[in-house]
Amino acid sequence: MPTCLVTGGAGFLGSHLCDELLRRGNRVICVDNFETGVLTNIAHIRVPEFRHLHADIIEPLHVDEPVDFVYHFASPASPIDYLRLPLHTLKVGAYGTHHALGLAKRHRARFVLASTSEVYGDPQVHPQPESYWGHVNPIGPRGVYDEAKRYAEALTMAYHRQQGVDTAIVRIFNTYGPRMRPNDGRAIPTFLRQALQGRPLTVFGDGAQTRSFCYVSDLVDGVIRLAESGYHAPVNIGNPSEFTLLELARTVIEVTGSSSEIVHEALPTDDPRVRRPDISLAHDLLRWEPTVELREGLALTIESMGAERLVGGGAA
Ligand code: NAD
Repeated sequence: MPTCLVTGGAGFLGSHLCDELLRRGNRVICVDNFETGVLTNIAHIRVPEFRHLHADIIEPLHVDEPVDFVYHFASPASPIDYLRLPLHTLKVGAYGTHHALGLAKRHRARFVLASTSEVYGDPQVHPQPESYWGHVNPIGPRGVYDEAKRYAEALTMAYHRQQGVDTAIVRIFNTYGPRMRPNDGRAIPTFLRQALQGRPLTVFGDGAQTRSFCYVSDLVDGVIRLAESGYHAPVNIGNPSEFTLLELARTVIEVTGSSSEIVHEALPTDDPRVRRPDISLAHDLLRWEPTVELREGLALTIESMGAERLVGGGAA
């Protein structure tokens, strides 16, 4: 039975990854310091194949059992978190990735870096293929996240080229689903909470900026396929269906049956104007494509959130 170590395993994506790896018959070691994750995301897992280590990956980590895969997902991911934790975000991308790679090297494990579409910045190529180098402002407020991930990718490739570590890089595009925190500031949980509370939906700018939203089960399936592929260069995983933020807000109002109105707020600094993955590589290499459409994914997310928790969620 392979053993998978998941850093950030108590977070939104990490906890779904732990669930799916266990379901597919792996042992799972979750490493998390609960900086942005919560114990309730993994509290339901009560099997002997699951182990949780409360540890900060910014510090060196030693594990006293064989490890076959290291999925490095630890990092603040929502703008609210990385703008609040700029140094932590840079350190987890740098020292955290260094330690996770070192662990993979010692255990001769395959390493998977959770990178992001944010490496493309405010893209001048649309949709974004893996060959695009990006358009990132290194010194803007978002730079702490974008550059941490770009550095993490460079470090991963250096460990692969110089140290022979078996590495993979997944560039994750906006993903949503159950266990997102209603107050994490990302568009879908914010709109859902606002709509279910009957409050106005706050759209940044004129809402013409676009995003592509992938449901979490599709994302996890793509990540595991990549882990099992033996491929080393970055691979985009995301849903290529592209929506403006205004369209998303209207769809949320419709799906929730809310009577909320839409209001506009100032656009954050360096907010990307467009975002859509080119997934030809994932399709050809991994035979992967998303299967859950936005309305279906929103309905599944609403079902899991529960009105009670949302009402207690407070303001954005
Ligand atoms: P999340 O905040 O829910 O999860 C991150 C987890 O990492 C949390 O459980 C947190 O406690 C943990 N963590 C943070 N710093 C740590 C440290 N120093 N040591 C140990 N654990 C630490 O975010 P998420 O949305 O699940 O994102 C997970 C990963 O996927 C991140 O690396 C993120 O950059 C990447 N990603 C996510 C998305 C998305 O749409 N959700 C998009 C692109 C990339």
